[in-house]
Amino acid sequence: MTSPAPHFTDDDTIVAIATPPGVGGIGIVRLSGADAFRIGHLLFAAANGQTEPPSHQLIYGHAIAPGSGERIDEALAVFMQAPYTYTREPVVEIHAHGGPLILRRIVAEALAAGARAARAGEMTLRAFLNGRLDLARAEAVMSLINAETEAGRRLAMRQLDGQLSRQVEAARGHALAALRDIEASIDFPEEEVPEPDRASLREHAAQAGDILATLLATARQGRLIRDGARVVIVGRPNVGKSSLLNALLGRDRAIVTPIAGTTRDTVEEAVAIEGMPIHLVDTAGLTASDDPVERIGVERSRAAAQAADALLFVLDASAPITAMDGAAADAIRNLLSEAGERAPVVVVRNKCDLPTALDAADARALWPDARSLRVSCLTGEGLAELRDAIGSALQGDGAHEDAALVSSVRHQHALQAARDHLAEAQTALGTGVPLDLVSIDLRAALDALGEVTGETATADLLDRIFAEFCIGK
Ligand code: GDP
Repeated sequence: MTSPAPHFTDDDTIVAIATPPGVGGIGIVRLSGADAFRIGHLLFAAANGQTEPPSHQLIYGHAIAPGSGERIDEALAVFMQAPYTYTREPVVEIHAHGGPLILRRIVAEALAAGARAARAGEMTLRAFLNGRLDLARAEAVMSLINAETEAGRRLAMRQLDGQLSRQVEAARGHALAALRDIEASIDFPEEEVPEPDRASLREHAAQAGDILATLLATARQGRLIRDGARVVIVGRPNVGKSSLLNALLGRDRAIVTPIAGTTRDTVEEAVAIEGMPIHLVDTAGLTASDDPVERIGVERSRAAAQAADALLFVLDASAPITAMDGAAADAIRNLLSEAGERAPVVVVRNKCDLPTALDAADARALWPDARSLRVSCLTGEGLAELRDAIGSALQGDGAHEDAALVSSVRHQHALQAARDHLAEAQTALGTGVPLDLVSIDLRAALDALGEVTGETATADLLDRIFAEFCIGK
């Protein structure tokens, strides 16, 4: 590991309130560092007078002011010996009642006894610096805490389990093996280390590259889970687009009227579908109009369709397909091909509570590759299946529950850089470029991979990453 900035290597004992601000049933003050036990014993008096409580066991007693012996609160405490702690340092937690005044007082006494206030993320930073977590897993702690959807939580948990790190390590392993072989032949030319076999070096570079290509292919799905997916509702007027938006939201947001063309602008709402954050967008018409207000709506609708991660194309199943349905479908196809996008389309055969005039075959004639479903916004029929279909359309085929997923832009860029350097190395190995030049590319790839797991992360990068954490974590 490159040496961290000097202020990282301090051996201060740090203290922070580990529970969220505000009033709660309990509140926890956490101390970590070489002096944690000494300070902990000053701040906490066990009811049974124990001064060397067993490690990792909750004991009952009082939080006290060291000077006066005043009881601050009735509390539990746990003294945890290193290295089996979050930070791998000695850790003490005092579980008091969750009143801000109580917790601040305990922290103030800890500061007076020689602790230093922890910076945001400093506990996790120490866990990283002490080798308990690599950087990708440390970042997962923050994503886990901040997860707002089930899918986001699952993703963060996978990263915390080390799924991403293991793949990155596997790629590193191959790049490193190739680099070692080259360096051995460069460093000891007089010892007649045979020139390594270029084909086997190339194989290592190729295998590392393959692992990275697989990882990078998950970046789109990772982005959708992180930032949310834009699902855009399109179709000719009066098929029930606004009704569908309301039905998927479970409340009335868009205006629904039997008068065609009432949605003159895009309407956007956030909703969770299959545990994924979704921005649902209801559009106005897609085809040119003379009305200037409508024209703005059309422009916005077209832009929304082009930026969509998935499209819901709505048909009125109680009426035969009309020329306007065909025109809307053509408009969408043109917009998508202009944008070079292949956003999945799900066809919604709405109003299935009414007598059917349009079936799956008609839908297929209009959208040969798209799946179509029977739905009624009025009765709610088919909505569960539709949510399911939206989830599958967004996740695509590569959605393995336990596969590593790239969800951070930072990781994505580092992995792309590594992949590019490995491709360079592969080309160079194929064209007889001297091995010491190949080793430059391999080293650059290793550096890029090390930024993900932290081996080559600079102090500046660590500062930026951990500053986003909350205090006490
Ligand atoms: P939009 O122009 O495509 O946004 O369509 P709206 O959502 O405004 O709906 C047009 C009309 O169809 C309204 O009168 C709705 O009440 C009606 N409608 C929408 N969905 C259904 C449905 O599932 N069943 C029935 N029977 N009527 C529906």
